Amino acid sequence: MKNNFFLYSTIIFLIVCSFASAQNENSATNKPNIIFILADDLAVNALSAYNPKLFNTPNIDRLANEGIKFNNCLVTNSICAPSRAVMLTGKYSHKNGLRDNRDVFNGDQQTFPKLLQQAGYTTALIGKWHLKSAPQGFDYWNIAKGQGLYYNPIFIEMGDTTRRDGYITDLITDYVFDYIEDVDKEKPFCVLYHHKSPHRNWMPNLKDLADMKTRPEPETLHDDYSGRVAAAEQDMEINNLYRSLDLKIHLQKGEVENSGGKASFDATGSWRATYNTLTPQQKKEWDEYYEPINKEFREANFSDEELFKWKYQRYINDYLLCVKSIDDNIGRLFDYLDKNNLSENTMVILSSDQGFFLGEHGWYDKRFMYEESIKIPMLIRYPKDVPANQVNDKIILNLDFAPTLLDFAGIEIPTDMQGRSFKKLMLGKDIPNWRNSMYYHYYEYPHGWHDVKRHYGIRTENFKLIHFYYDIDEWELFDLESDPHEMNNLIDDPNYSDLILKLKNELYYLQDYYGDNSVSR
Ligand code: CA
Repeated sequence: MKNNFFLYSTIIFLIVCSFASAQNENSATNKPNIIFILADDLAVNALSAYNPKLFNTPNIDRLANEGIKFNNCLVTNSICAPSRAVMLTGKYSHKNGLRDNRDVFNGDQQTFPKLLQQAGYTTALIGKWHLKSAPQGFDYWNIAKGQGLYYNPIFIEMGDTTRRDGYITDLITDYVFDYIEDVDKEKPFCVLYHHKSPHRNWMPNLKDLADMKTRPEPETLHDDYSGRVAAAEQDMEINNLYRSLDLKIHLQKGEVENSGGKASFDATGSWRATYNTLTPQQKKEWDEYYEPINKEFREANFSDEELFKWKYQRYINDYLLCVKSIDDNIGRLFDYLDKNNLSENTMVILSSDQGFFLGEHGWYDKRFMYEESIKIPMLIRYPKDVPANQVNDKIILNLDFAPTLLDFAGIEIPTDMQGRSFKKLMLGKDIPNWRNSMYYHYYEYPHGWHDVKRHYGIRTENFKLIHFYYDIDEWELFDLESDPHEMNNLIDDPNYSDLILKLKNELYYLQDYYGDNSVSR
């Protein structure tokens, strides 16, 4: 009898153990679920977690407060598709082959989603893709067609095309929930949850239009670019935003369109086509909001200075309200994860493919190696392993995302990846010999948009040295501590000649280290 009791107890104990282990499959293998939210053109200055003076993003703040905020997360090439390719491959543009937006991503190459998939993850890509070639390495993909429309967008789901009614940021989020709902819960999942917002032409959700108000101007809005030749020669000034497509004015007879970064582009026709994607009801609500303001604008007879300020306000309001749609949907995501008991073991990451100028230097867009353009948000919440309320100032790069995620998933990082895992930084630990400088290279000139000259450079914790080349030969040096807005080019200041020599040597060392021999010295 005693023996039988022992036998039954043992059997019950084993049954309970195996049940518990099945329930905690993911935690037993120690692999986090990953939700990687990538916004498009999201500037750190638009988020109250980084800059409380401009806009309030309470749900994104929550992500920072409940996890880690990186203050110096930088991109190696500040433009859309190239930066995305760097994130997927952990390799610089000259290695992954996607240097500028004209290039097509070679999807046959190694990417972190493929490696996660091989290691037992279920992988998905939902939202903006923008790499031209068909997605590879995903068990499920559902991408916005082309750049994606803000209203009633077209999605391509595993090759099948459908138009969905609604606002793109909400729709992409709905698809993410649908996917997680049905995902094989025996496996860890990784979802690349990629927004269109807040990409140009910045069309806010109708429900948010009433939140428009006068926003503060950046200190450098009226930059005259003295001492910086390449900065003076670009075409990305707020003053030149297309009146139709960007500023949402239905042009009347006699009203003149601006250059908007490409004089040959039919902005008026493009605005007409974009506006016509709205339903009659959406058009009605849209016009009820914008048309009275446009009428005031037409009748105001502004001076040049007043007109510039007006354009800035229209631009920044539209942009920020697109950011609001992301913040709102991150709130929905938190609720969803809580409700489905997924918060603890799911890593939620928010980042962007590059930064963006929010009027700094008088600009919109990105491309330049200046801070607003190369700095991206990097906020990560993973309650299971990552302590809350952390702020980290180390230089991390989009190049590091792939190795870091592989590291968390317990996968060996391939030696040909050029980034490094910053997992230990997230755990609150130090990493010996972490980088204290980074290498940058931008290629999209003379083709493409905005006329930003080709350039490469080095950024250390306190200084930045840039070389603009191709049809120009201009160097710039900035002291980021005394001149954080990069207005004062010190390249000809004799007090800095030793430093310049040192930085040039380090820059050339990094070019050799990463194997970028595409420029002659
Ligand atoms: Ca982008």
